[in-house]
Amino acid sequence: MLEWLIIGGGIHGTHLSRVLTAQAGGDAAQVRVLDPHKEPLQRWRECTRNCGMEFLRSPLEDHIADDPLSLFIYRRDRGTHSTTHLGRTRGRAALTVFNDHADDVIRRSGLRDLRLVGRATGLTSVAGGLGVDSDAGRIEARRVLLAMGITEQLRYPDWVAALPAHHYDHVGAPGFDVAGVGAWEHCVVVGGAMTAAQTAVALSKSGSGEVTLLSRGELRCHDYDTDAEWIRPTGPARLADEPDFDRRRAIVESGRHPGSVTSSVEAAVTLAVGLGRLTHTVADVVAAEARPDGGVRLQFADRDSINADRLLIATGFDSRRPGGEWLDAAAEELGLPTASCGYPIVDEKLEWGSGVHVCGPLAELELGPAALNIAGARFAGRRLAAVEST
Ligand SMILES: Cc1cc2nc3c(=O)[nH]c(=O)nc-3n(C[C@H](O)[C@H](O)[C@H](O)COP(=O)(O)OP(=O)(O)OC[C@H]3O[C@@H](n4cnc5c(N)ncnc54)[C@H](O)[C@@H]3O)c2cc1C
Repeated sequence: MLEWLIIGGGIHGTHLSRVLTAQAGGDAAQVRVLDPHKEPLQRWRECTRNCGMEFLRSPLEDHIADDPLSLFIYRRDRGTHSTTHLGRTRGRAALTVFNDHADDVIRRSGLRDLRLVGRATGLTSVAGGLGVDSDAGRIEARRVLLAMGITEQLRYPDWVAALPAHHYDHVGAPGFDVAGVGAWEHCVVVGGAMTAAQTAVALSKSGSGEVTLLSRGELRCHDYDTDAEWIRPTGPARLADEPDFDRRRAIVESGRHPGSVTSSVEAAVTLAVGLGRLTHTVADVVAAEARPDGGVRLQFADRDSINADRLLIATGFDSRRPGGEWLDAAAEELGLPTASCGYPIVDEKLEWGSGVHVCGPLAELELGPAALNIAGARFAGRRLAAVEST
């Protein structure tokens, strides 16, 4: 029986596999990460590549290594730590540097060796621990960490339901590669947040045809997607004095800036519009119609319709509790407590009950609005390092 099985090997599961290997006395044989992808961080790489993201939104301290200064030192030692660079990014890492650093950590720590390729489909109690059913077989562990994230839960505007699936793509869909979009006459990117804005700007630079960013409102500017106090190490402690989980939920939501963009991404949109490479249309679609040529016609209440031969949906991910049916069944069977919003009620070691621990969005009522961000993975690491080994 393993000491720890981590379900999900994205940024959270990968960072925490390092932390939990140390927690298990440095014995790598005691920890495994179950994920459908062979490579660590695959969903991160797909999503960030497809939107053409150049810089992270979060500070340099947020990465998958242990030492908060690790990425800063890595960047400095590779000669990219120039005054111009810093001025442009306000201390944020370029995506290429972040990914190279992550690869370095994964290689040096042997984190790829911890991976089991498969998808969890069930979680039950067994003598001395937990049993996880998966398409890679049954795995038993004393403790299980749920690190599934939300990036498989694609969010669509309601009107998309009227379109056949081959008339649009979601830029966050598993396996989608923006490079395969090919040539277009008019590409419409739907959404008003970071992914939509960056995707539209990146496509407008490729010069293949007309590009429209279609958002329901004007872009809203916030340099981070939560209030700054929530990404500080002291952030989660702000929830500790609140025993009412409905009020915790309200605090979590009020600390977030969903659907916002950084000032540099807003400036990139303004520049592309100013150069005539991008159109930014602020309007609400009331109906969508599939055209026989594979394109779409988008209709509005108060302006002319738009025809597009490429429709890219960039409206992000659904915030419902990750896991779906198998986790619903496990929560019921193991008697795991939930708040009225359906999210786990956990203790300070992020234990939901019976050796089941959580991180990422599943831990947001304990760690706050930044739980699903890279900062949240680091908060979870500090809590999980304190779990006593058996
Ligand atoms: C484009 C983009 C840019 C972002 N930029 C930033 C940023 O700059 N700073 C920041 O702090 N945050 C950022 N975020 C938010 C967040 O940090 C990322 O989404 C991050 O990848 C979340 O990591 P994760 O490990 O929770 O989830 P994921 O990367 O989604 O990994 C979860 C893994 O679990 C797997 N999984 C799901 N179900 C199962 C199952 N049943 N069994 C086994 N495995 C399963 C999935 O396949 C996936 O591989 C960004 C998000 C996006 C989409």
